[in-house]
Parts: sequence; structure tokens; C-alpha cells
Amino acid sequence: MPQPHHNYINGRWTPPRSDAWYERENPATGESIGSFPDSGPADVAAAVEAADDAGERWRRTPAPRRAEVLFRAGEIMLSRKEELARDVTAEMGKVLNEARGDVQEAIDMTYYVAGEGRRQSGQTSPSELPDKLALTLRQPHGIVAAVTPWNFPMAIPCWKLMPALVTGNTAVFKPSPYSPLSAINLVRILEEAGLPPGVVNLVLGGDAAGAALVEDPRVNMVSFTGSLAVGREIAAHCGRYGKRLHLELGGKNAIIVMDDADIDLAIEGAVWSAFGTSGQRCTAASRIIVQERVAPAFTDRLVARARALRLGNGLEPATDVGPLVHRPAVEKVERYVAIGRDEGASVACGGSRATGDGLDGGHFFQPTVFVDVQPQMRIAQEEIFGPVTDVITCPDLERAVAINNDVPYGLVSAVFTNDMSVALRAMEHITTGIVYINAGTIGAEVHLPFGGTRGTGNGHREAGQAALDSYSEWKTVYVDYSGRLQKAQIDR
Ligand code: NAD
Repeated sequence: MPQPHHNYINGRWTPPRSDAWYERENPATGESIGSFPDSGPADVAAAVEAADDAGERWRRTPAPRRAEVLFRAGEIMLSRKEELARDVTAEMGKVLNEARGDVQEAIDMTYYVAGEGRRQSGQTSPSELPDKLALTLRQPHGIVAAVTPWNFPMAIPCWKLMPALVTGNTAVFKPSPYSPLSAINLVRILEEAGLPPGVVNLVLGGDAAGAALVEDPRVNMVSFTGSLAVGREIAAHCGRYGKRLHLELGGKNAIIVMDDADIDLAIEGAVWSAFGTSGQRCTAASRIIVQERVAPAFTDRLVARARALRLGNGLEPATDVGPLVHRPAVEKVERYVAIGRDEGASVACGGSRATGDGLDGGHFFQPTVFVDVQPQMRIAQEEIFGPVTDVITCPDLERAVAINNDVPYGLVSAVFTNDMSVALRAMEHITTGIVYINAGTIGAEVHLPFGGTRGTGNGHREAGQAALDSYSEWKTVYVDYSGRLQKAQIDR
């Protein structure tokens, strides 16, 4: 029996005070990947206390020195990219090549943010009064609670922890119970890179540990990525107690395919965006809005490609699509397939669990395409988070954009067209946080803002310069060297 894994609190790997543990299985095979703490409130309290104790010293560490730790962490991640990627695949199922992308995104984010150690630029400006200087400085919030999902177990924690650290916050990190290995790997790397004890603390466990962390009165900011339902609960708490909050929630993203598009390219984009990570991305394309003339040919080809995808263990090079993360995810997709049929949509391919051929030990679902879908059906409005996409037909761009925008989420849209005026009009009128032209819904880069409108978030953005705004607050400083009491707006 391998040793159970531990929490990381105040620079020490420690067993949970709760003395409760859980097993995580590889979702492709059902084999155990280890035993992990199911932490309770006492573990959370100890982690927050450590973050509190470390806070003042870290805040006073010059930002370029903080960033040096991040640079070293990026170097270590790069040197271990392959083993980190294999752990991602083993614990949450995405195919190895995508897991490498997940780790690369973590590395990119770490390097990018490390550069902010010597930037974090603010504003200097003339004053309306003589002999007076006006400028802005960033200041940290204090203790950041980073609560993350399992679908990008390396990238998403780095999106949160790295900007939080470079701006001078300390953190308690509560990852998803379905991706504990990557969380441990990341925190070990930060430790090896020289992060002082208490600056990042790792509390493993489930939803109750997450709730205890969010509700700890010493936590100043919550950065949460996950489902809309949980995000709303956390928002209610943070609203009540005046905590800073950054939310990245679900998506119901669409690809619009116009008659004039390069159809080969659109098919590639649709297959990758709908079925990559088995559809378990916040950016997955779960709706394809196709202009009427091209819809029959597009749909036939999409269905043929979906049928040809090979399901299997993501560690096998021949696998196109891995498993879903756990059994409840398979059951949820099954429920939505039944809902779609009841609503009058037709299953053009897939529609059930995938079994046989080495799949029986895992949580596999066939890539599924719904046709005869109306925009207001539940399958076209709600996040399914599985390998399911809907084909919706439309007469023109105006209607396509209206359908695209009329969902409770607002993360990503993509448009395939060769008509520049169509592309520019779409860019202007689409109301999601991210728009791609002639690319799928997947492919965000770390130096640009990432996030969405409507139910996808609360107006903050991850990544890019925008991340600094999420993890710090502005302090405006006026320096008056006139030697007399000058009064703004009054002395003129
Ligand atoms: P989830 O909401 O079930 O859980 C996310 C995290 O929150 C986990 O660590 C969980 O333990 C914790 N948690 C659950 N209940 C909590 C509570 N009451 N208080 C505090 N913490 C709590 O989501 P999931 O299944 O892990 O992830 C899938 C969801 O994440 C999808 O909706 C997906 O769209 C979304 N997601 C969004 C983005 C984005 O950037 N917008 C990126 C990836 C995933």
C-alpha cells in the first residue's frame, strides 16, 4: 500500500487533523492513484493561520524577489513537463497531448507573471495643484483562497496562485478532490523553488473544505473557478461579508459556421472544440450554429468525424478522447441526452455510454451530436460538460449572433467565415468575453484576459494584465511638496 499523501501547511507536509482520507481512481481504468486527506475545518483553520502569519513578511519582500521564486518554479515545471502531464492524465483523464498543453499553460503563466515582478506598473500623473505629485501603487488583498476545479489541474491553479503571489498575497489552495496529484506536484515545485513557509498552503479535500475556507473570516479574497451553482453560493457569502471575489464559472459556447466558410477548417475547429477533453472544458463548443445552405453537408461530416474518434486511456497514443472525470459526470450526460430526446431533438451519433474494448473499467461516453435542436431547448441553454454538441441551423448572421448571445453564460464564441465584413460585424455584436475568428472555441493565451460575461463570471478576468487587477487593489498616493495646505477643487 503506497504512503498516503499529505496537506502542506506552514512549509510542512502534514497528515490531516481530521484523520479522514479518500481514494482517487484513474477515471480511465478505475485503478487507485493514491489516498489523500479529506480535510476538515481544523485543517483549513491551520492553513489560514499559516497564511496569516506569513503575510506581512511576504508583502514586504520586494516584488522582483517574489518573482524570482516564480521564475525558478517555471524552470522546474519545464524540466518535469512530461511527468507532470502524465499525472494530469492519470488523475482526470484528458489525453496526454492535451495534458502537456495544460502543463505548458501553467509554465507560460508562471513565466509571464514572474515578469510582473519588475512591472506592476501604475499611473503617474500631473496634479491640478503646483508642487504636488500623484501616482498609484498596487497593494495585495491579504489572504487569497484559491478554489479550483479538476479539468485544468495545473493551469488553473497557476492562473490564480502566480498573480496572487507576485502582487504580495499569501494563499490557501483548495483544489478539486478529483485532481489532488497535480496540486501536490505544483506545491512541491513552489517549495523547491524557495517559497517561504506559509506563503502557499495546500488543503486537500472536498466541498466542505472549500466552504470552510471561503467562510474563514481571515480570508480577504476568494478566487473560484467551478460551477455556476457553487459560484453563486460563494458570491452570496462574499457579498454578505464584504470579501473580494473573482469568479470563473461555466460556459455554453457556440461556433457559428457561415455559408462562405472554409468548411474543412470549420469541421476541424468543431471536432476539437466539442470533443477535446471529452467536452469537459469551460470553453467547449456545445453548440454549432450553422447557416442553412451549408448545414446538411456540415452536419454529415461532423457526425462522420465524431463516430471515428477513438475512445480510450489518455496515456495511449492512439486515443483521441479520454474518459469523463467520474461516474456522476457520465450519469449527468445521460440525463441530458434523455432531456434532449424528450424536447424533440434527435441524436445523430453517440448518445450512450461507451463500453467494451478496454473501456469497461472507466467512465466513457460516446461523442454525441444532437440535430433538430431549437435554441431555447435545455440542451442548448445548460452546461452539459461532456462530449455532446448541438447543431442549430439559422438563416443569417443576425440570427446566428442572437442565438449565440441568448444563453445564461458568456465565455467564448467562434465564427468561421471568409467574408471580412461578416467577421467584423460578428466581432462587434457578439457579447461573450472571448471571440475567435476562423478558429475553434479553445486556444486562449496567457498574456490576454480570460473570462466571460453573464453567468460565466463577475466581471473580473483571469490571466493577462487583468489578473493583476483581480489580485491587487489600487492605492492612490498624493505627495504635496509645496509646504502649504493646498485644497484640490478649491484653490484655483
Ligand atoms: P465545482 O463547482 O463542483 O467545484 C469546483 C471547486 O469548488 C472544487 O474544488 C470543489 O471542491 C469546490 N467546492 C464545491 N462546493 C463548494 C462550496 N460550497 N464552497 C467552496 N468550495 C466548494 O466544479 P467542478 O466540477 O470541479 O468543475 C467544473 C465546472 O468548472 C464547470 O462548470 C466548468 O465550466 C467550470 N470551469 C470554468 C472555467 C472558467 O475559467 N470559466 C474553467 C474551468 C472550469
